[in-house]
Formats: sequence, structure tokens, C-alpha cells
Amino acid sequence: MDEQINGIVIKQIDYKDNDAIITVYTAKYGRIGLYVRGFKKMTSKNVYATQVFDESVFMLEYNPISRFQMLKSATLVNEHKHIKADYDRLAIASLICEVADTVHGEEGYQDLKSALDCLDSTEEPYTVLNLYLSLALRYAGTGMNVDGCCLCGSGEDIVALSVQEGGFICRRCNSELRLPESDPGYLRLIRIINKADFSVIDKIMKLGLNSFTITQELIGFLKYHLDIDFRSFRSLLDINR
Ligand SMILES: [Zn+2]
Repeated sequence: MDEQINGIVIKQIDYKDNDAIITVYTAKYGRIGLYVRGFKKMTSKNVYATQVFDESVFMLEYNPISRFQMLKSATLVNEHKHIKADYDRLAIASLICEVADTVHGEEGYQDLKSALDCLDSTEEPYTVLNLYLSLALRYAGTGMNVDGCCLCGSGEDIVALSVQEGGFICRRCNSELRLPESDPGYLRLIRIINKADFSVIDKIMKLGLNSFTITQELIGFLKYHLDIDFRSFRSLLDINR
């Protein structure tokens, strides 16, 4: 039986001369592969609803055993046109989609949708990215420990952030680790981003979270704890050089 499924296109791979296989993050089934016939023909009526970053309604007959589903038709809901028109946002959205394809949780679809919707209109694109990355760390069960020192549990005199230990380090424990001390204001921002979610995105704007330094910190945690190298991160490094 045909069903209509809401989803966001996060990846596209060309297939044969005119076709493509797209990965769609759906609310109902998580990530699914969709075979799009005539993807590269401008006359195809589905072409405007199956591009990466498009949020669309897909008509298909879902077969849970099949590796990918045949797309019958697609209707565009939101093309996120400001993302597609801006190089920075495009690079950030690419990284968000690559992370969504690799690390995902129960709230995955809603968080991805919120991230792309916010990114399309915000003046703080890195705040949106940083929040998404911190959520991805939490999905993976390796969220930063920002409640106190990772080693002794003390909430007092936090002075550093350790990728290896997974979060905050107090002064006493750091006398052995000898990590470079971080600015208290910076550690406060790290705590805020790791406690937030998209329901409070408006409240965490204009605090200083629109920072590529924080992005690098979060990517460092994802790399170390999940051993994933995100290809799209390289374009962001180039932009911020
Ligand atoms: Zn300690």
C-alpha cells in the first residue's frame, strides 16, 4: 500500500545515467534509501523535491526488507533556499547531514529538521551547528561531562576540558594532567551548549556560541570517541582558515 512519508534528503549518489539513490531521514522509519528514477532529467517532476537539504513528502510503498524503496512521487515542503544560496551555510548544512547519516538518536528527525530550519534563517549559523553536534555526542552516549570534574566529581574550581577524559577537569586533578587551562567564560559556553536542545535555541543566541572554536572542540570529541572523520568538516576548516 502506498504511503506518504515526511523526510529530509541528507545524501545523494548518482546511479546509472539518469537515476539516483538518495538517503532520506524520515520521522517514521529513520533513514531510508530511495531510488529516484530520472533524477537528472529536468523534466522529471520529482527533481525539485529530491535535492539534498529538501524537506519533502515522499510517496512510496515501504518494504522493510528492501535495501532501498522505489520513489513514486515527491512534493516539496521546504527547500531551505537560504542554505543553498550561501557558501558558509551550505558547508555547515553538509556537515549536519553527514553527522545525521552517521550518528542518530530517537529525536533524530526532529533535531535535524530544527537544525536545517534554524540554519536557513538564523544570524548565528555556528550556534545551530554547535548545538546539533553536541546533541549528536549525546545520541552516541558520549555527551561531554559538564556537571563537574570527570575524574573526582567535584563541581568546584573547574579549569580545563579534556577530550580523553570526556569533559571538565578540576584544578586539583589537573595538577597531574597538566592540560592548558581554559577561560572560565569559555567553559561556561561549553556547559550551556551541552545542556541545551532545540526547544531553547532562541535563548542561547547572542551569548557567544556562534564560534568555530567551539565547533572544533565538539568535532574533536566526536572524532576521538567515535573514531569518525567527517569529510564535510574540511570545507569548514578551509572557510575559517
Ligand atoms: Zn577533579
